[in-house]
Amino acid sequence: MEKICVAVRVRPSVSSESFNGAYWNVEDNRISLHRLHGTPISGLSYTFDHVFDESSTNARVYELLTKDIIHAAVDGFNGTAFAYGQTSSGKTFTMNGSETDAGIINRAVKDVFAKIQMISDREFLIRVSYMEIYNEEINDLFSVENQKLQIHESLERGIFVSGLREEIVNNAEQVLKLIELGEVNRHFGETNMNVRSSRSHTIFRMVIESKGKDTNSSGDSSSVDAIRVSVLNLVDLAGSERIAKTGADGVRLKEGKHINKSLMVLGNVINKLSEGAKQRGHIPYRDSKLTRILQPALGGNAKTSIICTIAPEEVHIEETKGTLQFASRAKRITNCAQVNEILTDAALLKRQKLEIEDLRKKLQGSHAEVLEQEILKLRNDMLKYELEREKLATELEEERKSHKERDQCIREQQMKIDNLSNLVSFSDLDRNSNQGQGSARQSLKEECSESSVHQGDAFSTPCFKADPKAFVVKRSNYSTLPDYSPLPDTFSNVADEDTWQKMNKGYMADLDSLQMTPARKVQSFPSNDITPACSNDNFKQEVQQLKRQLEIATEDKYELERKHAEQIMLNHQLMDEISELQQEAKLIQEIPQRLSESVGNCKDVYEDILSIVQSFVSDGESSTAKLLSSTSEIGKSLFTTLETHFSVAMDDRSSSTGNTFLIQEQCKVLYEKLNSTITSLVLSETPSSKNEEVRAQLCSCGNKGCTQGGETACWKEELSKELNTIKERYYGLEKELDHNNQLLVVSKERYDSLEREFRLLKEDRDLLHQMVSDSSQKLSLVTDQKENVLKDLNTEVQRRKNLEEEIKQFSVAFASRQRSLMSFHSDIKSNCEKLRTQCLVSLPKSRGC
Ligand code: ADP
Ligand code: MG
Repeated sequence: MEKICVAVRVRPSVSSESFNGAYWNVEDNRISLHRLHGTPISGLSYTFDHVFDESSTNARVYELLTKDIIHAAVDGFNGTAFAYGQTSSGKTFTMNGSETDAGIINRAVKDVFAKIQMISDREFLIRVSYMEIYNEEINDLFSVENQKLQIHESLERGIFVSGLREEIVNNAEQVLKLIELGEVNRHFGETNMNVRSSRSHTIFRMVIESKGKDTNSSGDSSSVDAIRVSVLNLVDLAGSERIAKTGADGVRLKEGKHINKSLMVLGNVINKLSEGAKQRGHIPYRDSKLTRILQPALGGNAKTSIICTIAPEEVHIEETKGTLQFASRAKRITNCAQVNEILTDAALLKRQKLEIEDLRKKLQGSHAEVLEQEILKLRNDMLKYELEREKLATELEEERKSHKERDQCIREQQMKIDNLSNLVSFSDLDRNSNQGQGSARQSLKEECSESSVHQGDAFSTPCFKADPKAFVVKRSNYSTLPDYSPLPDTFSNVADEDTWQKMNKGYMADLDSLQMTPARKVQSFPSNDITPACSNDNFKQEVQQLKRQLEIATEDKYELERKHAEQIMLNHQLMDEISELQQEAKLIQEIPQRLSESVGNCKDVYEDILSIVQSFVSDGESSTAKLLSSTSEIGKSLFTTLETHFSVAMDDRSSSTGNTFLIQEQCKVLYEKLNSTITSLVLSETPSSKNEEVRAQLCSCGNKGCTQGGETACWKEELSKELNTIKERYYGLEKELDHNNQLLVVSKERYDSLEREFRLLKEDRDLLHQMVSDSSQKLSLVTDQKENVLKDLNTEVQRRKNLEEEIKQFSVAFASRQRSLMSFHSDIKSNCEKLRTQCLVSLPKSRGC
């Protein structure tokens, strides 16, 4: 375990103004803010591994801060050196240098090659790459067409930028030329070079591979096979200043926010790492591309140094404080660097490269410069093929992923179909009646449960089997830190200035409040285990299953339609019944009307009879006249009552029961009245001659010889008979009315219930209509989607086949290239042999001469 080496470098002041309030004072490895008269301001004094004052040179910075890291990189340790600070504080000056004072990169490159020259027992192979992170996009500075590159991770290579051009190099000049080219590419299309350079991060990377020379054939073959691979990152970060200060807006502001965000993530990573192993928790490396790339360098398997550059001017005091706080936190980080060795047969390719290198060395001194160039070209070609193959492999991997997504999509479709089927099942009104449909649904459910089981399988984490032929790299435990979070694709959420400022003052930003990605464990992919044939079978099965589901859904739909037709027929029948009942009800409603009419007729007849009878009774004072008038009154009131009640019954049938009761009451009153009149008449003893006539007329027996008492009795009898008939008729009418009223109530109830039923049925029918149309729409949608998915699937399968074909072709081309190299190798060998024999032959000859 070793701490990150942190240094501060003060740029020479560019302002001619003298200090008014405070200045930064450098003393040994301490920097502190002093008041004008020299007293230090408390709380603003910092100590670092090194503090370089304004007069220090890049040579000194390199010597004290970076040299050890570079040398360690040659020995197989990962190394990173990066410059942090506000714009114009001297980061680029430190990393790239000036014409008179070469920067760290330049010195590192030269130093690497110088060191290699000194190591005679190892063979080296060096690759370089140069990238830029601008607005969270990784661009290749060696190749302008390589834009927006993605970060990947593999067992063999660890974290790497896929598609990044790497160049095999064999001398420092070559590297420096490439860097120059990179700088040209970096500013391609830019009108203002400084603006962009201060807003992007640049990473210059050297991959140093080395292998022990096979000098002793009886030596330990495993130590010979072990290849050391170390990565050296030299990073020039973007300006860490606040956005407001640069007056950025529009595009610049967006850039600034991106920078601040990735720098903030860097700050947070450093904060977390500085907390110590126990409190650390999740380290958000994946929240920015910068930290992801630098992951091994930050709290991992790397020797790391940070140079924090500051501007001494008073106006920059706030930024300088922020930089120094950042540096203080970084100082607390510990790394655990160790030599990276690859120990497998898969290092064959690397061995071949080293053999060529060996060959090149053997040819050194002879007249083989052309051959040397050729070899370098061949090696770069090989690397290109390798990178190309890697790119294709990545593409294939992505294809696999998209395949998986398709799988997921199909599953979703299937679920939709299931939902649709469920919907169809729910909409079935006659659930219990149809056994056949029940069984169909049952089978559908079974299918669903099967598919859900299948789905469960698909969602379970695939089992990862390590490829036995893969490289096995001895990495530090840090390189396999489990606390990963997914890498964000876009950086739409950016840190605002306040948060940034808070962070710079030592505030620990809450990442959640910035909506960053949550912690997630790395998922292993079943990449090599899935053969295309197997996945094709899976697709076929999926498609078959989908088809079956669709068929069942269609059958269900037909069944539903049939049910719907039946319901419609039932509805029609019910409608007919209802109309019949309505007619019946109408007839019943007419009964009181008819009754009232017949009552009206009866009343007329009654009045006629009464008027006839009254015409016989001339004397209004006689008892007969009295009887007649009272009878007439009673009759009239009876009929009027009946008429009123019938009219009321016609108007309001619901209150008929109450009316009947009233009628009965009224009848009783009338009956009593009639009885009392008759009794009074019977008791009356004043008969007249006219009375007698009437009596004679009224007497049914017509016997003139009847006595007066007998006549009265006879008349009374007639009257009571008539009364009885009227009563009977009245009772009959009453009964009929009762009955009709009852019928009316029953009919009304039935009518109401039928009406309710009808309404319900109508609603159900509408609902069914709606459901059927919804189901049809969904079905057609699902069918369309399924067809699209199938189409996509076919295209994907075709594309994958093509890709595989391409890979095969590449492999074949690669193999043939290898063969040609081998033959070339053997040719060279034989040429060497020949040369040697010629030399041997010519030497004795010359000696002989
Ligand atoms: P940054 O990369 O941090 O934005 P630069 O490295 O571009 O800043 O520096 C800004 C200016 O200051 C440049 O003109 C550079 O030459 C000059 N400068 C920076 N540091 C030093 C130094 N230590 N000595 C001399 N000049 C320096
Ligand atoms: Mg710069």
